[in-house]
Amino acid sequence: MDLFEFQGKELFARWGVPVPEGRVATTAEEAEAVAKELGGKVVVKAQVQVGGRGKAGGIKLAEDASSAREAAEAILGLDIKGHIVHRVLVEKASDIKAEYYASVMLDRAEKRYLFMLSSKGGVDIEEVAASDPEAIAKVGVDPLLGLQPFQVNKLVFGSGIHPEARKGAVSMVNLLYKMFVEADATLVEVNPMILTGDDRVIALDSKVSLDDSAFFRHPDFEELREIVATDPQERMAKEKGLNFIKLEGDVGIIGNGAGLVMSTLDVVDQAGGKAANFMDVGGGANAEVLSNALEVILSDTRVRSVLINIFGGITRGDEVAQGVVDALGRLEVSVPIVVRLDGTNAVEGRKILLEANHERIVPAETMSEAARKAVEAAQ
Ligand code: GDP
Ligand code: MN
Repeated sequence: MDLFEFQGKELFARWGVPVPEGRVATTAEEAEAVAKELGGKVVVKAQVQVGGRGKAGGIKLAEDASSAREAAEAILGLDIKGHIVHRVLVEKASDIKAEYYASVMLDRAEKRYLFMLSSKGGVDIEEVAASDPEAIAKVGVDPLLGLQPFQVNKLVFGSGIHPEARKGAVSMVNLLYKMFVEADATLVEVNPMILTGDDRVIALDSKVSLDDSAFFRHPDFEELREIVATDPQERMAKEKGLNFIKLEGDVGIIGNGAGLVMSTLDVVDQAGGKAANFMDVGGGANAEVLSNALEVILSDTRVRSVLINIFGGITRGDEVAQGVVDALGRLEVSVPIVVRLDGTNAVEGRKILLEANHERIVPAETMSEAARKAVEAAQ
């Protein structure tokens, strides 16, 4: 589960990682009140789970409470790469002397944790890795041995951060590691970690992912979970036990098996379209599952057409077809639903769709034909 910046910073504060003082607001009035309480210059930050908020107009510095209100007015409701801003974080503005980067993550391939520290922060670490790899220090941490003091030194000295930042960075690195382990995180990233005018090292941004499988150990994380699952389709899918990921396009996708769904995304892309989601109904999906899947996808107003791509193995074509017909019977459907059925009971399935004789159903013989039809319909 990926946290919002303000939630990551709440965890930082809990583990003693220094963060700017601030609070979250959902209205411009609230943002003004927070700014007043903090006093002085503040920064107003869009709370969406995408990077590059600054460039998208999602981060604004404000001299006083009334300009904080204006900043929040401009940011709330903004669409940043398909994410609507419902909250802003209002923080005391920081005086930045230098921007660095710190992260610790699970390195599955090495069966270790990977800790990185860089003197180049505030930009994509991939960019730094490409243009200036010397500026990144890396250590692999054995989870059983833990982060060793010599490794902390290697990070701090190897990254080339300023001498006056070293002491603060040592403390930050140790605390981030402690939090990473104790919170069962899979990623803790601080970009930028900054050196302030008065030589303190603080976390100016946070990107934290927690391991869902470890939630039973953290009943106190329940609140984080409730706030994160705010996307209506994702919440609906979760309630119905469906495997669903929202994407940015307008062609809704249903397939059985992750591999088939991924190939479907590819053919939609080749046909010049963009998928609105990733929905894998899995093996053996029955009519009810199909009907629920369609309901979730159709509740997204961005969806202009749906592409159902099923290759029947355990899943039966007639069950899938019945699910589509059932969904059309109980939902108001205003977009075309392109259906490509193959494999087990595909013939029976096609017959069911034909007999339903519904104006929204568009049959297709092959995967590429189906993609073409769905993309055309979406345009
Ligand atoms: P992101 O671009 O979405 O990752 O958002 P960040 O939280 O990393 O902020 C982007 C940039 O905004 C930072 O790298 C800083 O340069 C700038 N910024 C953020 N907060 C402050 C602040 O309190 N003071 C100043 N001067 N700049 C800030
Ligand atoms: Mn950042």
